[in-house]
Amino acid sequence: MRLVLVGPPGAGKGTQATALSRRLGIPHISTGDLFREHITRRTALGRDAERYLDAGQLVPDHVTTGMVRRRLGEPDAQQGFLLDGFPRTLPQAQALTAILSSSGAPLDAVLELTAPADVVVERLLSRGRPDDTEQIIRHRQRVYRHQTLPLLTHYAPLVRTVHAVGTVEDITTRALTALTEPAGHP
Ligand code: AMP
Repeated sequence: MRLVLVGPPGAGKGTQATALSRRLGIPHISTGDLFREHITRRTALGRDAERYLDAGQLVPDHVTTGMVRRRLGEPDAQQGFLLDGFPRTLPQAQALTAILSSSGAPLDAVLELTAPADVVVERLLSRGRPDDTEQIIRHRQRVYRHQTLPLLTHYAPLVRTVHAVGTVEDITTRALTALTEPAGHP
């Protein structure tokens, strides 16, 4: 199964992606994690990306899509994947379509996680990542609304919306159920 997970910062994408990838037997590919690994290893890509992560801004599309193209070319991604945090812009979505059409394996679904603003801010402030200060969080939320939300219209026929408040297990169950239902009927 080829899946994309979309949701505002703090919706619990990383936690759900870990659980879902285990349940579905597909690799969890998080662009945020990939960037943080590059930064830790001090690669050229990591040095390019670091200032954007620190500021809560999006890394330029060509850098991000190049990294994802390479990752999706690895053997474990040939039977499916769960993309977490990518695509985040329309050009990234178009690049993903191009990458997948070259292998004749389109996306199966886009899972949208939704949660009220007070819940997501509380989750973000409790995890303590360096880009989780109040000001940078607010900026990442604006970036999400302006750059990423339009993707839900772009992907409308594939979107399944999952209410992401509750225990991790409950939300995972809801997401797995949503994947078995026809799109457009969350
Ligand atoms: P995340 O771990 O998904 O919250 O991402 C952390 C940071 O990584 C973001 O604030 C961006 O700076 C960068 N990032 C992650 N995914 C993308 C993407 N698809 N496009 C551009 N920047 C990204």
